[in-house]
Amino acid sequence: MSVRFLDLQAMHAELSQELDEAWREVTAAAAFIGGEPVERFELAWAAYCGTRHAVGLANGTAALELALHALGVGQGDEVIVPANTFFATVSAVRSVGARPVFVDVDPGTLLLDPAQVEAALGPRTAAVIAVHLYGQPCDMDALGAIADRAGVPLIEDAAQAHGATWRGRRAGSLGRIGCFSFYPGKNLGGFGDAGAVTTDDPDLARTIRSLANHGRAPGSHHEHERIGANHRLDALQAAILSVKLARLDAWNAARTRVVGWYREALADLPVRLLDQAPGAVSAHHLMVVRLAERDRVQAALQAQGIATGVHYPIPCHRQKAFAGTEVPFLPVVERAAPLLLSLPLHPHLGADEVAVVADALRVALASARPAAAPELVAGA
Ligand SMILES: *Cc1c(COP(=O)(O)O)cnc(C)c1O
Repeated sequence: MSVRFLDLQAMHAELSQELDEAWREVTAAAAFIGGEPVERFELAWAAYCGTRHAVGLANGTAALELALHALGVGQGDEVIVPANTFFATVSAVRSVGARPVFVDVDPGTLLLDPAQVEAALGPRTAAVIAVHLYGQPCDMDALGAIADRAGVPLIEDAAQAHGATWRGRRAGSLGRIGCFSFYPGKNLGGFGDAGAVTTDDPDLARTIRSLANHGRAPGSHHEHERIGANHRLDALQAAILSVKLARLDAWNAARTRVVGWYREALADLPVRLLDQAPGAVSAHHLMVVRLAERDRVQAALQAQGIATGVHYPIPCHRQKAFAGTEVPFLPVVERAAPLLLSLPLHPHLGADEVAVVADALRVALASARPAAAPELVAGA
């Protein structure tokens, strides 16, 4: 039995009629940029996240760049980022001319460590980006308090955390501004690239809307009040996202069920699962484990048709793009990187498939050299 990493076909099969209809409506109206489908999705997404505003954008990277730009972050500024994230979190900081200050993560959750953020604050700190990686929200109480004391905005990179909550409040409503990607493989994904920001601040929302639309003044076609660019969400993606949003909670619940099966099936194996923080409800974007001899184990699973991924094999500060710049040694993320493996996880994954993955892992790990890595022991 082969096991898929993600099954978008099964998700879309649940909604094939509604998706076809949404697509047909947009093509029949032949209004592809802006308009009712985009406005409808923005309202629905803001309501879902519990914010006053949402602005649809072309992708998640644009969401991060425009959030930083609208907050006035630029040349000479520093932005604190976790080294364990998708590279776009970091490249967005460089895109606006600021310098990323890499900090280490918590060894249990692999999320931004508030103590490290506090230690990295300086006179040039202009923002902190909390990445709710793998679906689990960061400790937003601690990070919010630190950012408030320092007088800098806290930005959420919620690209992997659609629907996740921290103390009952949704990701995207927990900082000054939330940044989302609707890349097809995310928990809520389009039929192509898409993204959004969420915020309670009407001025920020207005600025980002203008920046994403050639710097236009609101409601105007020919007046440009600032230098902007084109980072708009298109009507086809918005229509698809509105249809899929109706299923997001059910799909996240199904992901949670699958993770529960994994927790049972892997309980007696030498793999370390992520800790779940008490205040956090994860959207379970990825099923990340740490284990010895990751590359060999991954190849053994692949040989049996079990698709896995690695998020992320190279910490951002160790990427070639930062070669020649001064970067810190960050022990938690650097020791974790070679141990990380993301197992198949999607709403339609069956208990039988989880059992197949667990059995294959058991066999592969039986021949692994005893793991001396302290990172594999919970509480290390
Ligand atoms: C996917 C992702 C992004 C980038 O989103 P795109 O839509 O691909 O530009 C940013 N940050 C994180 C954590 C992501 O997972």
